[in-house]
Amino acid sequence: MLHRCTFLLALCFFKGGGSISTSCKTLGCGGRDNTCSCTTSCWSFSSCCDDYGTVCPEQSPTIQLGDVNMLITTDLHSWIEGRTHESLLNASLAHVVSALDHLRKAADVEKRDVFFFDNGDINDGTGLSATAPDHVEFLAPVMQSARYDALNLGNHELYQRNGHGIVEGPACPVVGLNESGYIASWQGRYLTSNVVWSSTQQPIGNRYAVVEGKFGTKLLVFGFLYNMEDHCDAVSVLDVEQTLASKWFIESLKAHRTLCDGVVVLAHMDFRDALVDKIWAAVRQGMGPSKPIQILAGHSHIRGYRRLDSHASVFEAGCKLDTVGFLSYSFEANGLRIDHSNITGNVQQLAGAVNRSVSNLSTAAGARTAHAINTARGRAGSDQFLGCASQRYRLLGPLDNNSLWTLYMNQVLPGALLDTPSSQIAIIGDGTLSYDIFPGPVNVDDVYKASPFANFWLKLESIPGSDVAKLLSELIYPTKYDLPPYFITGAPVPSSSYDLVFCEYDTEAIVGRLSKILGRRLEARLYKPLLNTSSVLNKWFEGQPCASQELLV
Ligand SMILES: [Zn+2]
Repeated sequence: MLHRCTFLLALCFFKGGGSISTSCKTLGCGGRDNTCSCTTSCWSFSSCCDDYGTVCPEQSPTIQLGDVNMLITTDLHSWIEGRTHESLLNASLAHVVSALDHLRKAADVEKRDVFFFDNGDINDGTGLSATAPDHVEFLAPVMQSARYDALNLGNHELYQRNGHGIVEGPACPVVGLNESGYIASWQGRYLTSNVVWSSTQQPIGNRYAVVEGKFGTKLLVFGFLYNMEDHCDAVSVLDVEQTLASKWFIESLKAHRTLCDGVVVLAHMDFRDALVDKIWAAVRQGMGPSKPIQILAGHSHIRGYRRLDSHASVFEAGCKLDTVGFLSYSFEANGLRIDHSNITGNVQQLAGAVNRSVSNLSTAAGARTAHAINTARGRAGSDQFLGCASQRYRLLGPLDNNSLWTLYMNQVLPGALLDTPSSQIAIIGDGTLSYDIFPGPVNVDDVYKASPFANFWLKLESIPGSDVAKLLSELIYPTKYDLPPYFITGAPVPSSSYDLVFCEYDTEAIVGRLSKILGRRLEARLYKPLLNTSSVLNKWFEGQPCASQELLV
């Protein structure tokens, strides 16, 4: 499924003549409080600077243990293995689990509780996700090994995978999570306050839970999703505001007002979303003026923090394990003190944040998660060697020979997908690709990181070139960023006719527009059902042998 947050990608594009700076020596190190703030910073999962780690050394943040403490992951998108091509972001979920153990040990001394939360979007990002038919089968056991106190659902668990029956296969990731027993295995702590099964209108997980720490801290926890409209048939996403006004919600607050020490809302939405303020207002009204309320946001893949009132805040902790969030709060004479830290997903910094070194970070629980990750990699075939890349192909930057888009449109699709490139034109949207290909040997995981969404292909036959040109003039318009919203494998000649090839995600954009241009409703047909937007890259790299010295690496 294509990424819904393409505006974030757009933020990463450089202004200033379309050139890409590859050194932080010239670009600077920036404030690193946004993952895509390339104009002022080189902090990013798709970093502007190749040399960030050496030019911009970071200090481990100081963790301030409070009365109540929480460690947070959000929008993991299956980036849980530690990055092999970006040494700065080498921490895996196993390292996070080990850090949690050390944090709890330190908190034990002061009899304070530490909770561990995930805020959804576990899938769609790497081979661990895209190689599983339902995109979650291989990931789920790894998440289970991490012993979260509560988890939320993200929009990526809710996309239709099979085109409503156009292709075979699982319909929706959350169905797989349910049928595998994953949701039940959390024993009421997989939270879906406003998402229900469409067939029964029953919640997918629990609407809320009370989680209790080792030293007796009781937190009332909810799990909200923004008002998502393009979800799969299996579920209904209920309006957040209506849910806040519903009887069960109001009564849950009333019932726990004195029983719980605080409220945590896992909210899969941007920390600046107006719905966050509405959730805060509803919880505040139900729980009184001094109950701590902590909203944990996500979805927009950035770091962000806002204080909501004297006893409440909202915190968004990056994405894809580029960040592990830490938050604590303590009652003080003049109110509630809230501290938060963004820990970069780097082993050294994670170890430093919990007063350990890299060599003594690992715990038995962390080792179990590391084993679960290795098992998942084995099932996904992540290490399967495909071929070699002769250079780095970049997601961001000008459309020259270094561009991943140029490679995909000029070589991959003509070579691995199209039958007759001269009479076929492939069109893809700017969310199709999401990570660089690095020089040297390329394995399955490298390919799926570059193209993670595995959307199937459709085609429209015999469209006059003049109408294709009209379509393209509507789709491809200049933006203030360097890259256009759509890419094509070739320009149409008005007097010729073409088969158009595109992926299922762009059906409405292409078939809808073209139907209007032609004055009749067009029906797209499935094209090359054994290939998708990810596996074409896989197939292409199988035809790219290595120079002998690369194989020896
Ligand atoms: Zn996400």
